[in-house]
Amino acid sequence: MKADRDFGALHSIPAEDVYLSVVVPVRDEADNLRLLHEDLLATLGTLGISYEIIYVDDGSRDASLAELTKIADSDKASTVIQLRRNFGQTAALSAGIDHARGGVVVCLDADLQNDPADIPELLAKLEEGYDLVSGWRANRKDHWLFRNSVSRVANTIISCITDLKLHDCGCTLKAYRRELLHHIRLYGQMHRFIPAMAAMVGAAVAEIPVNHRPRIHGRSKYGLGRTFSVVMDLLTVKFLSGVSGNAIKVFGGFGLILVGLSFCSGLAMFFQKILYGISFIQTPLLLLSALLFILGFQSIFMGLTAELLIRTYHESQGKPTYVVRNIYKGDR
Ligand code: UDP
Ligand code: MG
Repeated sequence: MKADRDFGALHSIPAEDVYLSVVVPVRDEADNLRLLHEDLLATLGTLGISYEIIYVDDGSRDASLAELTKIADSDKASTVIQLRRNFGQTAALSAGIDHARGGVVVCLDADLQNDPADIPELLAKLEEGYDLVSGWRANRKDHWLFRNSVSRVANTIISCITDLKLHDCGCTLKAYRRELLHHIRLYGQMHRFIPAMAAMVGAAVAEIPVNHRPRIHGRSKYGLGRTFSVVMDLLTVKFLSGVSGNAIKVFGGFGLILVGLSFCSGLAMFFQKILYGISFIQTPLLLLSALLFILGFQSIFMGLTAELLIRTYHESQGKPTYVVRNIYKGDR
């Protein structure tokens, strides 16, 4: 392990009492937890940094919680957050991130599929000046068809749509600068879109290949149904990135085009009447004009409504419409 790297001495990350928070979402992983904790300690212990490990019990029905409380009793650096019921992996990650104190947050799965031994590499890459380093399961050990192939197609689509080229969005093993996560709210299955959302607020994102291991204990919590949620979340993310701040331009522009077309169709109708004596009710143009006009106005009003919603969103949360990376003063 790379004990020679002195991460704590590097000052690009603000000094905090804890340098690194490791966040682990847990749902029915009783047989994995002890091994995972040992792996984590083996890696983190050699780094010479201050760290904490936050386990989030996401409504487990097996002995996970009992395992976790044993771990927390025996290790001061570990905290267990118990959620009241199962809220899903993304919500569990959010809970852990909200309670994290470290300047850097690393998330990983509890099922031993992610390898804690990759954490030093992620931190080293972050120290090169990135805000987010994402793991890429280059040699993924899941079902080739139902998981790996579906995921490959999904990743290609996601990277086309979100303008951020990553090989593997779904890998939980990622390192983040915590302050970056303050600007991102997570819903649904959205943890996989954190890199895309981070890139939207101007974060520097890197990706490195990481180890991936087959699941030995416990079962995967997901099937093909997740693909649907991911696609829906993708649409939301794309909408938020493309439309927010431009709502009236996008919808209004579309609406104006439709209203314009409606006038053209009206004009054509008049010319037909004057030149060829075709009555208004003999042509479909009247209907077309009316339809285009109504659709156009609807679209303009939709733009205005979206614009209002976006302003309410920013103002109700006191959210600025910008994100500051750094403030320099004098020689600092
Ligand atoms: N998980 C969770 N809440 C859920 C489902 C999953 O906290 O509702 C956790 C689970 O315990 C594991 C991680 O999220 O640590 C990834 O889940 P899983 O291994 O089932 O997903 P896969 O690797 O098959 O995509
Ligand atoms: Mg897994």
